[in-house]
Amino acid sequence: MSKRKNLTKQQRQQVYNKYNGHCAYCGCELEYKDMQVDHLIPLNDWNNSHTDEELWSMDNLMPSCRLCNHYKRSYTLEHFREAIEKIPFKLNRDSYIYRVGVKYGIVNPNENRITFFFEKDTTGQKIKHYRHQAGFTQEQLGELSGINAICIARYETNKTEPTLPQLNKLAKALNIDTAQLVEIYSVNKDKNNSNKSIFLKENIENIVNEKVTVAELMIKQRKNIGLTGKQLSEITGINHGLIRQYETGRSIPKEYNCFKIASALNIDTQYFLLICAYDSYVIQKE
Ligand SMILES: [Zn+2]
Repeated sequence: MSKRKNLTKQQRQQVYNKYNGHCAYCGCELEYKDMQVDHLIPLNDWNNSHTDEELWSMDNLMPSCRLCNHYKRSYTLEHFREAIEKIPFKLNRDSYIYRVGVKYGIVNPNENRITFFFEKDTTGQKIKHYRHQAGFTQEQLGELSGINAICIARYETNKTEPTLPQLNKLAKALNIDTAQLVEIYSVNKDKNNSNKSIFLKENIENIVNEKVTVAELMIKQRKNIGLTGKQLSEITGINHGLIRQYETGRSIPKEYNCFKIASALNIDTQYFLLICAYDSYVIQKE
């Protein structure tokens, strides 16, 4: 068994930033202080097929909430998935109260397959996930959205990146919000997709040269269209305190909020997403 090691503060911060403050498994938002560091390939790797170096590499360290970390224990990812999928069966076997709940329809067990948060990390993975959830084949989604099934296959394998109008069509066909399909915090882990990296890099260079931050852009644009912070909060449904945090640079909007703010402030969504991605990238580097 590999020995426990203490991570440096910088390493812990790097783990926290991997999914931008989310638990890698369930996707809940984590406070830095509450984050537990889980090993994707567990440490008690009995057949010793992994080196210490692999087990302690950044790829194997996952930010996790207490519940997920505790339940995953020394499971491999597939065992963990199976254990969660079996929960309704286990409860049905062991809990009399659960059976009463099911009988009265207050509890609704299902046989959903589990997809972990980090597996839905790219736009392609997200499209695939929501397509499965809706029970469509690529051809069916193609017909519904008016987008060629071959294109959809390419999106799902991250070979090409859908444009925003295409994402809108897909989201509409899948009956979800476009925001649910957008990936933003991928700037520095996108090694395989060079086209996209170039696109991001060029845009980011512009952003760097113009030195626009999320906070500045929000304040400027909000004043331009004559809104108070409180009004922006009302329009977007985002807590006023959180808006203030964004406007003082203490926090960066996450994807759903990015969409709401960009649309309320009439900012190009992709541009705003990029600035948010860049700002969080800068924070990661610091
Ligand atoms: Zn979790």
